[in-house]
Amino acid sequence: MKEALEDMVYQFGYHVVVNNTPAISTGGLSALESAFDALGWDDPHLIDEKGNTCEVVGCMESIVSGVKWGDIYLCLCHNHSMMAYDNQERPPIKDYAIIREQMRDKATGFINDNID
Ligand SMILES: [Zn+2]
Repeated sequence: MKEALEDMVYQFGYHVVVNNTPAISTGGLSALESAFDALGWDDPHLIDEKGNTCEVVGCMESIVSGVKWGDIYLCLCHNHSMMAYDNQERPPIKDYAIIREQMRDKATGFINDNID
């Protein structure tokens, strides 16, 4: 139940940036305010940068697609997805995405996180 509510809030809440940290806000919508109350969340509620924001260094926009850019797969915002599709030079990528891509098996495309 709590997970369902969190999923809904992640999907319908307003994605904002507070002091350089990604967050979700109710935007003053009463249905979201009720959901935040039920979850015991402050408004805005801070969320992890990893998994919730574009993987280009310094970009806090929401992820809209997974795109191959050069030799690696990245989760990117709209603007950076367009740059990738356009084959523009890739800007610096966040460390956690680089580390993940180093674990990707080149043959299968799967992430190999069983490190011997
Ligand atoms: Zn971006």
